[in-house]
Amino acid sequence: MNIGRLLSETARHHADHPALRYGDVELTYRELDGRVNALAHGLRGLGIKQGERAAFIAWNRAEIIEWLFASFKLGLVVVPLNARYNADEIAYHLQDAEVSVVMHGPEFGEIVHAARAQSPSVRAVVGVGADYEALVNESRSETDPVVEVSPDDPCWLFYTSGTTGRPKGAMLTHANLLFAVVGWAADLTPLTPDDVTLHLAPLTHGAGFQAIVAVAKGCAQVIPVPASVTAAETLDLLVDHGVTNTWMVPTQVVRLVAELRERSTTGPAALPALHSIVYGGAPFHVDDLIAAIEALGPALVQLYGQGETPMTATYLRHAEHRLDDPAFVTRLASAGVARTGMEVRVVGPDDPPLPDGEPGEIVVRGPAVMKGYWRRPEETADALRSGWLHTGDVGALRDGYLFLLDRMKDLIISGGSNVYAREVEEVLLNHPAVAEVAVIGLPDRDWGERVVAVVVANGTADADGLTAFARERMAAYKRPKQYEFVTELPRSAYGKVLKRELRDSLVNI
Ligand code: AMP
Repeated sequence: MNIGRLLSETARHHADHPALRYGDVELTYRELDGRVNALAHGLRGLGIKQGERAAFIAWNRAEIIEWLFASFKLGLVVVPLNARYNADEIAYHLQDAEVSVVMHGPEFGEIVHAARAQSPSVRAVVGVGADYEALVNESRSETDPVVEVSPDDPCWLFYTSGTTGRPKGAMLTHANLLFAVVGWAADLTPLTPDDVTLHLAPLTHGAGFQAIVAVAKGCAQVIPVPASVTAAETLDLLVDHGVTNTWMVPTQVVRLVAELRERSTTGPAALPALHSIVYGGAPFHVDDLIAAIEALGPALVQLYGQGETPMTATYLRHAEHRLDDPAFVTRLASAGVARTGMEVRVVGPDDPPLPDGEPGEIVVRGPAVMKGYWRRPEETADALRSGWLHTGDVGALRDGYLFLLDRMKDLIISGGSNVYAREVEEVLLNHPAVAEVAVIGLPDRDWGERVVAVVVANGTADADGLTAFARERMAAYKRPKQYEFVTELPRSAYGKVLKRELRDSLVNI
């Protein structure tokens, strides 16, 4: 089935139900579907054909959801671009994906035109505002432009840096996304048209999948204006719109918890409508997670996945976010169990499954796993060995629960021993003066790599104090040999600490 039909169906059954709230704009499902159909007819009128690639770059806004569904209905392949890219990075993606048409937010006109000059495949650029509205208004039609697709046809190129090299486009098919959508509703958040979804994370990434789920289930979706909001604004949005579910990266949850504390409104009664905060995409340090459970009650649910298996590998259920039983507390350090219909293993270098508790590469198999990397047969063969997606993440399984340790590329090998940054970070975070920490490996003549902790202090932390703290709690080979203090850790738009950037900035010190 064409994933675009999810909107056609919802518009048929819940025509007058609110679909999108974006500032002063409020669209019902009938209106949203009407605009999407018009946009799709407009794109067809520009000569854009089934199978071609349609990129977009914008901070979160309502038109992204329209663009996604118009593209799906036409059988196009969407190429979401990170709003933080520079012109060269945009050009790289336009060339690599051989994009035909680009939609951009009003702030991106100049940069997109600079990138287009280097991207001969691009035949049309549509800027949100007058151009976009003209295309919609001139192409109104009663017919649904949705085309037949094969389940195996790609509909989304999810660009990811993977373990090495330049970003590659993970080809997600209609069948992959349909499975991920149904799985989201089954495992993560049961949704009905009474639900209200708030979009806080970039729709160009995992939150984009959540928007598809919300459309499929007829939920109202709130997109904040401006797209980037503080924790205080987030809390107001949650209350004012009666939000029932949202997706956040761990840093956003931590900030929300601090805001709830500040207003002395913690506990399930603080946000009675909110039943699900889906979090994932980066490690949630256990102490912070415990504080979040105390402040938010049973609303949290974790997912672990990656672009190559869109947000669908494992999950830690709502009911497992419990503090009253030590068995559950231990599992808070895990990413939970395999999602419905997915298989997860931990394997050694030649792919034999490893015994419980032993760290190795996490591999995943099932209907969510991508078709392959766009035009990269070698990397595809490498990633999809023996039918299993090799995630490049290191972890260990215990009783079916997956404990993530690190990205393989972030693994530190010091004096011949493997040091898992996450383990060292968890220990240092127990120090009262450590607010945030990232542990990395830097080249070292004696050790090969030495363990370095980059610390954001919330009090007076010094290297001697942290060294003494670590000495009591960790084996010598794991202990940081160097501490650096910073005011902020570099993070991506998706909440991940940019360890490569940290390494590059420290390597010459
Ligand atoms: P992306 O493909 O950009 O979504 O990044 C996926 C990567 O984010 C995974 O391979 C993991 O390294 C990391 N990640 C995703 N979910 C989690 C999670 N729940 N806990 C820790 N790291 C995660």
